[in-house]
Amino acid sequence: MTACNWAKSSAACRHTFLTRNPVTVRRHDVTRRETDLIMICASDVAGQMRGKAVPRRAWASRRENGIGWTPTNVLQTSFGPIAPSPWGALGDLAIRPDPDTLIDLQMEEAGIDESFAIGDIHTLDGDRWECCLRGQLKTALERLEERHGLRINAAFEHEFHYSGLPEQGGLGYTLRSFRRLGVFPDTLMMVLDAAGMDIDTFMPEYGPGQCEVTVGPKPALRAADEAAILRDLVRATARGQGERASFAPIIDPEGVGNGVHVHFSIETLDGTPVCHDPDQPYGVAQHSGAFVAGVLDRLPEFLAIAAPSVPSYLRLTPHRWSAAFNNFGNKDRESAVRICPVFGAKTPEAIARKFHFEFRAADAAASPYLLLAALVNAGLDGLDRGLSAPTPTETDLAALDVADLEATGCRRLAGSLDEALSALTSSEWAARAFGETLVDVIDRHKRTEIGLMEGLSEEEICARYHAAY
Ligand code: GLU
Ligand code: MG
Repeated sequence: MTACNWAKSSAACRHTFLTRNPVTVRRHDVTRRETDLIMICASDVAGQMRGKAVPRRAWASRRENGIGWTPTNVLQTSFGPIAPSPWGALGDLAIRPDPDTLIDLQMEEAGIDESFAIGDIHTLDGDRWECCLRGQLKTALERLEERHGLRINAAFEHEFHYSGLPEQGGLGYTLRSFRRLGVFPDTLMMVLDAAGMDIDTFMPEYGPGQCEVTVGPKPALRAADEAAILRDLVRATARGQGERASFAPIIDPEGVGNGVHVHFSIETLDGTPVCHDPDQPYGVAQHSGAFVAGVLDRLPEFLAIAAPSVPSYLRLTPHRWSAAFNNFGNKDRESAVRICPVFGAKTPEAIARKFHFEFRAADAAASPYLLLAALVNAGLDGLDRGLSAPTPTETDLAALDVADLEATGCRRLAGSLDEALSALTSSEWAARAFGETLVDVIDRHKRTEIGLMEGLSEEEICARYHAAY
């Protein structure tokens, strides 16, 4: 529930990665054997990181040339079967790692030995492959720069389930839960710090066994890289304790979900923040108002990207403090986009630097790259159309009747992945924003996933996702 610390400017954060040298971390250390493997991965439609490992001695050449990849991999579900592929066994691609994403951590005291890097998927001609999700984000960010001279800073807030906590209600935020977590939180902070993240807060969250970790904002691409890296470092740290972390959207159908909240702000290319205007209602400046209006207007069309699992729709129901409507909220934790409170800023400049928004309708079954690409493309659409800032709702929308809800201009979000997918596939905007091929791939992939869950109870479905994420 904690808003990330927006005070640290993105410029100040930008160059910390791979320049810190904590004593516990070895990078490219002599103790690594030349045959030790580095996994080169890409984040995919299933929300998984998949790739291949290469020996350390091949890193220099693999950095240039990448590893071979096949298009049909994007149809691999998280549950075994591969969805019907338009490519079959045909085609070749390459994943080229971005050296800025290299994680090379040996931390004996944390039980961590992780070497991986995230890459972009290219065609053999060197073009961005249309189903490369990191490429989708880069394209969206380029459009925002070219069309409006704007950039995004973001921070992903993650909730997850830790097997080392008892499944006991009533212990949310307690010192008792925190103590029961043992060395896990401190170890995790050390690991995330070593990975170059601006560690912000950790908490035993409300749900039984639920934890949350937040990090500071970074330029959009780096923020998505960190989200992908963080998930695997949380898993690795839990494993180092003999435990397991699960980022499944919801563990217990009757309980609260594990959300991924994306905090974001907008700035000009020279780093001037443009979200805040003290003369506008709620302090929402024109640019950011148009951006948020686009996000909320297009949310029904990209919901299947932000909440792409079958149980995601158990989480996106009223009174679970997630999001159930496409509403704008002022400090409202049941809104799809929330205006975050500004703490401890006195001057107009300081307020402008901290003022930002939080998108709450996502979970970790979504690739952080495609999720952020969707937010940027939707916000961009709001800017292109010159939409006005939405009016924040100040009531429980679930308690309104049809006519009163309609009067707010807000809509109940889809109640199932099937419904959300239909909105995505029938959207002309989505076809333009992400390309018809990717929309078709998401549809094939996710409809296969829905089929795999057919006939299972809600508890069984949650258990399948608990294991898969
Ligand atoms: N667990 C809630 C969710 O599913 C979020 C609770 C909060 O941090 O406000 O998004
Ligand atoms: Mg939370």
